[in-house]
Amino acid sequence: MSDSDVLIVGAGPTGLVLALWLTKLGVKVRIVDRTSGPGTTSRAMAVQARTLELYRQVDLARAVTDAANKVRQVHLWVRGKEVARVPFGEIGGDLTPFGFMYVFPQDAHERLLVERLERLGVIVERETELLSFVDDGEAVTAQLRTTPGEDKTCFCRFLAGCDGARSQVREATGIGFPGGTYQQTFYVADVVASGAAINDDLNVDLDQADFAAIFPMAGKGRIRLIGAIRDQAAAAPRRPLQFKDVSHRAIDGMKLDVQKVNWFSTYHVHHRVAEHFRRGRAFLLGDAAHVHSPAGGQGMNTGIGDAINLAWKMAAVISGQAPDRWLDSYEAERAPFARRLVATTDRAFGFVSAEGPLADALRTRLAPLLLPRVLSIEAAQEYIFRTISQLTLNYRGGPLSRGVAGHVHGGDRLPWVSEAGVDNHASLSAMTWQAHVYGGASAELKNWCAENAVALHQFRWSERYQSAGLAQDAVYLLRPDTYVAVADAKGSIAALDGYASDTGLRFQRPNGTSPAWPLRSAG
Ligand SMILES: Cc1cc2nc3c(=O)[nH]c(=O)nc-3n(C[C@H](O)[C@H](O)[C@H](O)COP(=O)(O)OP(=O)(O)OC[C@H]3O[C@@H](n4cnc5c(N)ncnc54)[C@H](O)[C@@H]3O)c2cc1C
Repeated sequence: MSDSDVLIVGAGPTGLVLALWLTKLGVKVRIVDRTSGPGTTSRAMAVQARTLELYRQVDLARAVTDAANKVRQVHLWVRGKEVARVPFGEIGGDLTPFGFMYVFPQDAHERLLVERLERLGVIVERETELLSFVDDGEAVTAQLRTTPGEDKTCFCRFLAGCDGARSQVREATGIGFPGGTYQQTFYVADVVASGAAINDDLNVDLDQADFAAIFPMAGKGRIRLIGAIRDQAAAAPRRPLQFKDVSHRAIDGMKLDVQKVNWFSTYHVHHRVAEHFRRGRAFLLGDAAHVHSPAGGQGMNTGIGDAINLAWKMAAVISGQAPDRWLDSYEAERAPFARRLVATTDRAFGFVSAEGPLADALRTRLAPLLLPRVLSIEAAQEYIFRTISQLTLNYRGGPLSRGVAGHVHGGDRLPWVSEAGVDNHASLSAMTWQAHVYGGASAELKNWCAENAVALHQFRWSERYQSAGLAQDAVYLLRPDTYVAVADAKGSIAALDGYASDTGLRFQRPNGTSPAWPLRSAG
């Protein structure tokens, strides 16, 4: 068995994206999974705009959007009536090239990621389970077992625990996973149905004692239904729950006629965040680090975001461009977002699933009055779109973020502007350090970029950039994961040099590629 820079445990969406990014960045990976093949159930349906923006880096965005259903609107129903709509498409079109919510089932998504990885020559090692590992401070020695019962040893620099909510990596590191589990049982069903709510959009019913959400799927009348099972009788039957056990009030409320059930499953929802995302050379990503309710379609997207955040930092540390402490910034940047997300989805989930007369009154009396008014305000619509699509997610105040220019801070996502056929996000498809100047760059800055092999992209100044929050003649230094590292209003090279010396970054790989590392042969 050959050694690798990074051993990735788990080939769910998080592990597959990590493998894809690291391989593109020239890092040698192994990826193992205990299952015999990719998942076969639809699970996470929503692919958010921010994920698609980042997927441009591996030429995946088009493949997903071509295969996905575009959700243009969210319809809210109460007691058999549609009470409000959020027009996603209209709001998002000015904010991102992917101004919709895209619905692409997780099983198809995983198959696509596996196929792309194979094109790069990386094959997921199936039926291979991580049993244990030892981190001696210089390297990790992992014990793997294949299904025929053969034990193998793998040596690697870093171990990435992408092994889901019951993570073995998390267990072995002793990192706590505090939080809780909701009492209710929830269901998910892929069905064929007809009715007014089969409209290619997302439909959500907030009813007296139920909630149900409908996601469109490819194929005539095919939808994904999710909801809570409330009736005590249904919650504790003597046989496995079936679709007929679901209380049909919310489904009937949306006037849905279900003709065929293709897949039905029940589950309990946990809300937990790991106490740490790193211990020594082991990292936790995706569901191994955070789990929460599927309300809002954030779980899988957040795992993918974790993978992209860690991948370029690992690549920089392995190639000697950045010191090991850069890897601490993974937890510093991702854990606060995960904690906020769990708190927010907790509140949202609490609202749609709470029982009792007060909760019912809020959902069925107050919400129908307030929601149409609140959701007709453009600023409220934009806020909702930005939050759900993860465009607002930023690393302001983090260890790798500096400065502010216009309304854009170090740590922000670069605002998207498409002006006269020029898309300012086009250059972000490169996984490299780069500088953007809207207006004119000084000769000094041009020289600095040339000397440091940082690509400089200049955009002719226009009002559109100002409206997006960008400042004229400022310099925005962008990280390989496209977030702003430095925003300097004066466009000065001192800010860039200061950043490199503060953080210990070298913009160029040192000669001779990777630093010395004690490679050992596997036993
Ligand atoms: C019913 C349902 C609906 C959902 N809906 C949504 C949604 O709409 N939107 C959303 O964003 N999210 C949703 N989610 C959540 C989403 O599915 C998860 O967030 C996502 O799968 C997490 O991906 P992951 O790669 O981190 O972990 P997983 O997908 O859990 O992958 C972990 C992998 O690790 C492997 N593994 C585990 N232990 C070991 C070991 N010791 N050795 C080797 N391999 C191991 C497992 O076999 C598995 O393949 C839903 C989840 C469920 C269950």
